[in-house]
Amino acid sequence: MTQIKAFLRFPPARVGRPVTYHLVKDFDLKINILRAEVAVNKVGELVMDIEGRPEDIDRAAAFAASEGVEFRVIDNAVAWDRERCVHCGACTAVCPSGALAMNRVDWTLVFTPADCYACDVCIKACPVRAISPGFDGEPAGE
Ligand code: SF4
Ligand code: SF4
Repeated sequence: MTQIKAFLRFPPARVGRPVTYHLVKDFDLKINILRAEVAVNKVGELVMDIEGRPEDIDRAAAFAASEGVEFRVIDNAVAWDRERCVHCGACTAVCPSGALAMNRVDWTLVFTPADCYACDVCIKACPVRAISPGFDGEPAGE
């Protein structure tokens, strides 16, 4: 078993497709949706944790592509520049997941990528631009 974080983008014509249902039912994957932005006739986006056998995840990614849905494995949703960071804590106030938090002992920032929802709100919140998009995952199966 392996666990990945994935980003799925649905073009407007595909927003109503039950892709998540098929990922669970047909590929035996455990899915935890972290973020969902879906509106009729607009691009839809999902960020999810996926647990399953690597070959099933690859098959699921190929299935999503066959449905016209972009499927990307997220390695780093955002990149934190530790050297630039001044540990002001502003990003922790907007982070919905707790991935950005202050160490209560020395009051330095702690970033836990595994908890990140890839919402990107911390990027604008940082006054010194220590956080940037880190969305460099490659489409699965490529
Ligand atoms: S993108 Fe930033 S604000 Fe959003 S969950 Fe990840 S660390 Fe927190
Ligand atoms: S807002 Fe920027 S400078 Fe402040 S703690 Fe977060 S990453 Fe560091």
